[in-house]
Amino acid sequence: MNDTTPIAAAERPASATLRHPADLAGAGLIPADEIAALGAVAARYALAITPAMTALIDPADPADPVARQFIPDIAELTTTPAEHADPIGDDVHQVVPGLIHRYPDRVLLKLVSACAVYCRFCFRRETVGQGEGLSRAELAGAIDYVRAHPEIWEVIVSGGDPFIAAPRHLRALADAVAAIAHVRILRFHTRVPVVAPERVTAELIDAITASGITTWVAIHANHPRELTREGCAALARLADAGIPLVSQTVLLKGVNDDAHTLAALMRAFVEARVKPYYLHHADLAPGTGHFRSTVAEGQSLMKQLRGRVSGLAQPAYVLDIPGGHGKAPIGPDYSLAGSVEDFRGNRHAYPPPDRD
Ligand SMILES: *Cc1c(COP(=O)(O)O)cnc(C)c1O
Ligand code: SF4
Repeated sequence: MNDTTPIAAAERPASATLRHPADLAGAGLIPADEIAALGAVAARYALAITPAMTALIDPADPADPVARQFIPDIAELTTTPAEHADPIGDDVHQVVPGLIHRYPDRVLLKLVSACAVYCRFCFRRETVGQGEGLSRAELAGAIDYVRAHPEIWEVIVSGGDPFIAAPRHLRALADAVAAIAHVRILRFHTRVPVVAPERVTAELIDAITASGITTWVAIHANHPRELTREGCAALARLADAGIPLVSQTVLLKGVNDDAHTLAALMRAFVEARVKPYYLHHADLAPGTGHFRSTVAEGQSLMKQLRGRVSGLAQPAYVLDIPGGHGKAPIGPDYSLAGSVEDFRGNRHAYPPPDRD
């Protein structure tokens, strides 16, 4: 392999993953007369559904929450003026190819551009699945940048989905990062343990850990049904290896925008030793309007979780501010002008009035 060869995905039998509308029709997930229309969507935004996710879809249910995340919809071809190809401003803070330095103490590395599945609401949908991941020379350039910036405490590996990279590439990355004394944390963001649990092998787990750094893994899932027995077993393999796990979920209309579903998802994470971390307000990615709730709806859902579901099961509700200004917690706000609201909605003065 030469220096310009992109970081390749690990070899897997590709046949089982559905990648074309005709495959979806063949699997009974869409009617044959929709192949042409959805072909136009798939030509614009990458399509892939793994066997684990295909198996979860009930084709008879028009509102199936797993289908909604992965099966293309012609609504994706409608882009509103507020939507943007670079919705969270990655480009503004890209310092070398594939490396985004938005916050002082951490960088985000886009190792690969491919994913095991393509989510129809993806905030990086203009780039994921289109083109190649980093070349070895570009990866070396990113590592050089990190080495030259002692304020960087954490390297976050995203993409694309870094867990589809071949373990030998992940091993080389972990070793390179571990060799930089000021980097203490190596964090991976992945959907693989849930959507392709068979890829979480002992070899992969070994490849993402190295002495001298602490590895964390953030797991992306949006509906409790995604946490299958096999998926939970993959999470257990990571947790048993001593890797702390956190979650991220996107608030999605028609998938998880009700308190019952969100509570079940957050509890399922906690049961699988995954600490709920972020509930993302859906970003303004092109053609994703049919997935976006309002901030007020998101805040109401968060209020319904608070107090009724374990504190362990509470994510922070965050918005990535368009333009590259980073993530901000967007409430709800429980403390206002001298009082605090309890989970029943009653307000209590704070500090409390003097008692005699
Ligand atoms: C989301 C993001 C991070 C990570 O933010 P945390 O709040 O630490 O999870 C880091 N860098 C970039 C560019 C991001 O978009
Ligand atoms: S796995 Fe992540 S990066 Fe890949 S398509 Fe889904 S949301 Fe986008």
